[in-house]
Amino acid sequence: MHEMLHALSAESYGKGSWFFFDEGITEYLTRMATVGRFKRNAYPAECDFMNRLVTMGATDDATLARLYFTGDWAGFEATVRKFAGAWISFGALRTLNAMNSLAACDYLEELHKYPEAPLGGYHALLEVLRGVGTTQFTRSAFQEVWERRDLGGEFADSTAGLRALFEFSVIGYLRTGGGGGDSSYAWRYRDTRAPFDESAETFRVHPGFK
Ligand SMILES: [Zn+2]
Repeated sequence: MHEMLHALSAESYGKGSWFFFDEGITEYLTRMATVGRFKRNAYPAECDFMNRLVTMGATDDATLARLYFTGDWAGFEATVRKFAGAWISFGALRTLNAMNSLAACDYLEELHKYPEAPLGGYHALLEVLRGVGTTQFTRSAFQEVWERRDLGGEFADSTAGLRALFEFSVIGYLRTGGGGGDSSYAWRYRDTRAPFDESAETFRVHPGFK
């Protein structure tokens, strides 16, 4: 059944999917279809993640089925945005794996519970990024927009703002001596231990973040 479902999934779904999510949704739908008939324990972390998304209300069975069989990513993303807020980065979501998926669930629930409080500052940060207007930017370009905005004192200075954006995987920074290719950028979601470099001069907005 599980393997059969893989074969039945829409090509447009597969293009936007990744291993962790793909095994999770396939196993989740398999268990739905075979409920009570088999005891299944394949892909526990992957399947737990899907269960938890549905249980918390970030998406639902019908939306997952539509995503899987028709490739309706827009419909899926709309349910998650409705739950957790419009600014969620689906680029960062696509980096989920068995190691970080539970933390991501906690985070989604947190966003749902406190739609404004912890995010007030982030909305303002995103406004600064929008003001900068380019996917790659320098510290001074960020600083220039920063000085024209009222950040309400939530961040000590523009470096603290850049750090927060980095920690949320919204931006990466060009490593010292990096040539500028994609691999010379440091991203928190790629390396959860990557420290923020306070002296970084060049940054890039995550392509999944729009
Ligand atoms: Zn599989």
